[in-house]
Parts: sequence; structure tokens; C-alpha cells
Amino acid sequence: MSRIQNVAVLGATGSIGRSTLDVIARHPGRFRAFALTANAQLDELFELAVRHRPRFAALAGEREARALRERLAAAGCPVEVLSGPAALVTVAAHPEVDAVMAAIVGAAGLAPTLAAARAAKKILLANKEALVMAAPVFMAAVRESGAALLPIDSEHNAVFQCLSQARSGGLAANGVRKIVLTGSGGPFRSRPLAALAAVTPDEACAHPTWRMGRKISVDSATMMNKALEIIEAAWLFGAGAESIEVLVHPQSVVHSMVTYADGSVLAQLGNPDMRTPIAQALAHPDRIDAGVAALDLARIGGLTFEAPDFARFRALALGYEVLAAGGTAPAVFNAANEVAVAAFLARDLPFDRITDVIESTLARIAAGPAGSLAEVLEADRLAREAAHRALGRPLSAAS
Ligand code: NAD
Ligand code: MG
Repeated sequence: MSRIQNVAVLGATGSIGRSTLDVIARHPGRFRAFALTANAQLDELFELAVRHRPRFAALAGEREARALRERLAAAGCPVEVLSGPAALVTVAAHPEVDAVMAAIVGAAGLAPTLAAARAAKKILLANKEALVMAAPVFMAAVRESGAALLPIDSEHNAVFQCLSQARSGGLAANGVRKIVLTGSGGPFRSRPLAALAAVTPDEACAHPTWRMGRKISVDSATMMNKALEIIEAAWLFGAGAESIEVLVHPQSVVHSMVTYADGSVLAQLGNPDMRTPIAQALAHPDRIDAGVAALDLARIGGLTFEAPDFARFRALALGYEVLAAGGTAPAVFNAANEVAVAAFLARDLPFDRITDVIESTLARIAAGPAGSLAEVLEADRLAREAAHRALGRPLSAAS
């Protein structure tokens, strides 16, 4: 390896952002945190900037950015501080940036991730919502610019690794029969359905195997996360819905599998620690230390698997339907979920109504073509309005 790789970490204060900075800090001769961004976490971003000494830091609000600028100057830390959504695009497409860790949660990550694609960066994609909502536009940008797209989502990173010998020509030409996405089933896999209405945000966010941000933790509890991942896999690997399966695996050790025509099943295993896929993608095609403990299968003893319960986790079936519908349906699906999860986290919606809100939004907003960013953003806007109506509150009163 030659030059140090400059990495822009979008969503640096989050769970994926911090894991990324941990891996980067282990390899100062390979990677440099070139830009760190966060929404409003001023204190956290200040600490990260002092520790990692990036060239740029960015916050959403100008007032917070000014405060960060002053504090960094007082600390003798020469960091250029930017603000607003445009700052995310600036750092993602900066000429000196080699790789962009797209780890903002939700639709807010779309613009900078797309900018990174257009600027032909190496994109480390954690922000699955950006891909799900705008896949045709995003994948076209990746193709046209020649950007490298590496999945960070543990399942997709596992599939990527299990497909590493595949040559060009699509999955079938490479003898691939199925992509099997594993999922833990979340904290409520076996809780009585009648008890789900009383679930609190903290209970929903207490994931049995992964430590993650609150939005994705709720998505894991409804299995909406797996539904988004079905759509993500379809686009990343050019797979049809019929070749993507979901398997519940509560231990989260087998991160996903690929089934081949000759009966071989390749799986990627590891402790549930996102530093593994992050390090794999950052260093690809090299392998580097991620700080992750060795997998001790003798201590774990048993790995179990079960078919998903489509009646309990209705989001899963919706995911397949939305993938088949195509166009703007995934954008509507994602936006409705973001609104419903935010309402649940604000204690404005019972847990067991999240999927109802998504379903009723899908029923209200007809899917159209998703050939341009404008079409995607309009579908996102209409879906948010409809989801707020489904909650019984107009958009303006809620946000
Ligand atoms: P998180 O909530 O811990 O962190 C989110 C980050 O995004 C924070 O730095 C926050 O400041 C920033 N952010 C939020 N809203 C923003 C906005 N409007 N503008 C600018 N920045 C904003 O989330 P996370 O768990 O790290 O997840 C990040 C992404 O990675 C999500 O898309 C998630 O689905 C995906 N992902 C996470 C994990 C995991 O283990 N945490 C695993 C797979 C995929
Ligand atoms: Mg995942």
C-alpha cells in the first residue's frame, strides 16, 4: 500500500461512525480520518475531532458549527468546520477524499452518498436507506462514474465475501442459486403478540446481539431492517426476489450465506462486531486487524436457525412486495418506516402499529417510476405526508 487513504466519515458520532474511527485509529499508516460529520452532537464531535485531527468537521446547524469552531480553535486544533447539508456533499466529494463511510442514518444520507458515487469515491455503504430509496439513480451513478461500492451491512458484506470468486455475468452465470440473509429476529422473536403493544423504546432498542443506533434497533425488532436488506441485496448483487431468502439465526454469528448450484453453501462467520465488515471494506482486497476477538465456536457451542415467521413480522412480506413493485415503492416504504419509527421512539405510536403505518402508507401512495432523484424525493415527501396522516397528525404539527 502506498499513500495514506483519506476517509470521510459521515455520521461519525454514531455506532458505525465510532467503529469506523476505531479501525482507522488502529492503522495510522494506512488511513486518515479526513472529515468527520454529525447532526447535532457538538460535544461528541468536538472530542472526536480532538482525538482524530481531521481536516474537516461538519454539523447540521450553523450555530453548533460556530461553537465547535470556537472550541477547536481554543483547543489549538486546526480543523475547518462546515455546516448544513451542503457541507456533507462538499466533504463526500472532496478531491482529496479516497473513501466515504456513508453512516448517516436514514434519508438524510442520500445526498452525500450520491455525491460520493458521482465523484467516483470508494463508498463504504452502511446507510442502507439511501440505497433502498433511490437504488436506480444511485446504482446508475456508481456505474457511470466507476465508483467502488462496498457493503458494510454485515449480511451484505458477508455475501460480498462469499461471492468473491464470482466473475462477471450475473449470479446465475456464476452458479449462484440463493442469497440467504440471516437475521437475529430481534428482541421480540418469541414474545406473545398481545404483549407487543406495551413495548417501550428502550426495550425495543435493547438488541440481543448487536449494539446499534436506535432507529436500526427498532427496525431489527420489527424485522423491517431485514425487509430493507432484501431490497438492498437485490440491488447490490443484481438478485431477483426469488433468489433472496431470510433465515432467522438468533446468535448472529453466521452473517449470511450464498448457495451454489453444486450444493456448496458458503457462509461468512464472525463475532457480531461491525468492525469486521468495516475493516474488510476499508482494506479490501487486503485483510487487516479490526480489533475484534477471535470467534470461539467451542465456547458458543451451538448455532441455531429457523424459518422466519411472516405472520409475526409482516414487514418481511411487505419487503418482498415492495421489491416486486419497484419504482418509487421502496422510497415510500422507507419513508413511512422512518416516520413510524420516529413516532414510536417519541412514544407517540405503539410498537405493534409501526408496520400498520407502513402498510397503510403503501396503500395510499401509488408507486411511479424512479428514474430521477426528483421523482424519488417527491415519493419520499408524499409518503411522509401520508404516514403522518396515518398517525393522525399532519406533517407540520409533528416535525
Ligand atoms: P446512529 O444513530 O448511531 O448514528 C447516526 C449518525 O448519523 C450520527 O452521527 C448522527 O449525528 C448522524 N445523523 C443523523 N441524522 C442526521 C442528519 N439529518 N444529518 C446529518 N447527520 C445525521 O446510527 P448507526 O447505528 O450508526 O447507523 C448508521 C447507518 O448504518 C444506518 O443507515 C444503519 O441502518 C446502518 N447500519 C448500522 C449498523 C450498526 O451496527 N449500527 C449495522 C448495519 C447497518
Ligand atoms: Mg444488517
